[in-house]
Amino acid sequence: MQREPIIFVGTSDLSGHFRGKSFPAVDLASRLRRGLGLAPTNIFLSAFGSIQMTTFGTQGEVFLIPDAATRVFVPFDGSTTEYFFLGDIKTAAGEAWDFCPRQVLRRALDRLKTETGLRLLATFEQEFLYSGVSAHPSQPYELDSLRRQGAFGETLLAAMREAGVVPDSFLSEFGPQQFEVTSAPAIGMRAADDAVITREIAQAVAFRLGHRVSFTPIADPNGVGSGTHIHWSFLDLDNQPVLYDELARWQISLLGQQFMAGIQYHLPALCAVTTPSVASYYRLRPNRWAPMTADAGLLDRGTALRVCPIIGADPVQRAKQCNVEFRVADATASPYLALAMLVQAGLEGIRQRREINLNDPRPLPTSLGDALNLLEASDAAKDWLGSDLHSAYLLFKRAELKSLADLDEIEICRRYREVY
Ligand code: GLU
Ligand code: MG
Repeated sequence: MQREPIIFVGTSDLSGHFRGKSFPAVDLASRLRRGLGLAPTNIFLSAFGSIQMTTFGTQGEVFLIPDAATRVFVPFDGSTTEYFFLGDIKTAAGEAWDFCPRQVLRRALDRLKTETGLRLLATFEQEFLYSGVSAHPSQPYELDSLRRQGAFGETLLAAMREAGVVPDSFLSEFGPQQFEVTSAPAIGMRAADDAVITREIAQAVAFRLGHRVSFTPIADPNGVGSGTHIHWSFLDLDNQPVLYDELARWQISLLGQQFMAGIQYHLPALCAVTTPSVASYYRLRPNRWAPMTADAGLLDRGTALRVCPIIGADPVQRAKQCNVEFRVADATASPYLALAMLVQAGLEGIRQRREINLNDPRPLPTSLGDALNLLEASDAAKDWLGSDLHSAYLLFKRAELKSLADLDEIEICRRYREVY
């Protein structure tokens, strides 16, 4: 008897988990048209699996429709095949559903393009822990640490490529068992799709090797954090890079500076979406190479917005390399929602011609509770998420906060590590 292939379709939901449903592969053609029915409440599945709150109860139906352009098909020797699609959630009338994470990003990208003619080019640089290498001795950046992780890295790169994600780098990071993977920059939605696919493929490869990866923001409150840094730049409609300006401050074009300033201005409130877990705020502490202030700087890995290095003298090549890194994100965030908030905040900066605040940048919130209060007070964020999602998101995250209220930091870290 031959096994029958199964296809999964999912999205990175409000908790940042990749969730969905599956169907027999032979039904793909019809599923691409009609999708799979989903309880609206499922969008409220919490970080830890249970539904801690819901505005939908047991009512209603929405439809998860696979996006044919996101097909991931990765056969593993002697094991099952990873076969999945990313999807959009639509209403029965076939319209975009207000709670669909990809739709929130699509709206932001469309706005950027309509108002400025710009397309976002972005990539997610993702740090994580791999259980297949021993934690001690810690071997930051050593070749021996790369060697000891064995076949994981090479398999990961091959599987990413097979999945349609171009690997840019894989390296042994600073912390015990910590590695980092980055894909090549991609345009708009595809950048966030690539981040979701990369996380799943990393988990898939680790699983085949009898191990796990964890993208948790920090596994031990006194340890090393794992960030998801979002690098971005722009292309114009002729595919030309437009972030670079040889004569401007930090060689970032005026438009780019305004975009940075918009992110900087809204950042404290946006933390509730980009660093959206209780443990996220244990990472944003001193001496972690993670930001604590909504600041911007040239080549400074301590800042929230780092203008990245460029090498060489050729202006064409310099313009191509030019990018800014947003460092206040981690993998408890849905890449769709995090990127959507950056784009909307940056666009607002262009609209308002904002200037980078170099002198007294505001502190970032130091807890999820504080971040949620700022998000609640932000009319801009309400507009960007849509008011229904904005209020539901607050309830959703406050329920997560409440569920951990009686636990100490070590236990909270342990719980997040189990599920991310
Ligand atoms: N691990 C640091 C973080 O949590 C980043 C280190 C680096 O610059 O790669 O963001
Ligand atoms: Mg790193």
